[in-house]
Amino acid sequence: MSKLAIAMKITLETAFHTTGNLRRLGVDRALARAPEGVPVLPATTLKGFLREKAELLLQAWGHPVCTGPEPDHLCKGPEPCLICRVFGSPRWPSSLHFSDGHLINEETTSSVRAGVAISRHRRAAFPQRLFFVETTSLPSTQWHARCEGYFPSPSLAQEAAALVALAARWGIAIGGGKTRGLGWIRQIEMEARIDDQVVPEAELKAIWQAWWEGRHVAEN
Ligand SMILES: [Zn+2]
Repeated sequence: MSKLAIAMKITLETAFHTTGNLRRLGVDRALARAPEGVPVLPATTLKGFLREKAELLLQAWGHPVCTGPEPDHLCKGPEPCLICRVFGSPRWPSSLHFSDGHLINEETTSSVRAGVAISRHRRAAFPQRLFFVETTSLPSTQWHARCEGYFPSPSLAQEAAALVALAARWGIAIGGGKTRGLGWIRQIEMEARIDDQVVPEAELKAIWQAWWEGRHVAEN
C-alpha cells in the first residue's frame, strides 16, 4: 500500500455576496466550532468543495465520472469512477480521509465567525457543510488542513494527489462558485507526499495533461 498525505494551506476571504447566499441556504446554521470554541473549517466542507470541482472538470473533459448529489447518480457498476475511487461513495468507502482545518493564527479567532449550511451533496451520512468567514473585522484567514489515505499502488496514490490538486487550483482559477457562496477561497496551497516523498509538481501536471486529453492514468 502507498500512503498519500496532503497538507493544505487555505487562504479564505469573504466576498460581499456571502450574506445573500447564507440567507438562501440558511437551513442549517449551527456554528462550526471545535469543542473548545475555536472555529474550524469542517472536513466535509473542504472535501465537498474539492469533489464538486473535480467532478465538473473531469466531466467537462469527457471522462465518465458520476456527479452528485443524489446517490442514484453515483457509480453502480463493478468499478468506481475516478471521483468515487478517490472521494468515495455509499458503495465505495473513501480512500482519502479529510481532517478539519484549523486556523494558522489562532489569536484571530475572536473576530471570525463561521457558519454552516447543507449543500447539494446530501447523500453522505454527514451533510456537506458550507463554511464562511465574515470579513467585517478580518480581511482574510489562513487555515491548515490535511487529508490522507492508503492506495493499492503508488500510481493510484499519485492519481489521487493530482485530482485533489487539480480541484484545488481550478476552484480558485474561476474565482469560486459564487452561486453556492464558495467564492471565499482565495488560494489553496498544497503539498502531497507519497510514502513521505514529495510529489513533484511536474508529475501532477503530466497527469492533468493526460486527463485533459481524455486519457486514463492509473488502472485499478
Ligand atoms: Zn463514481
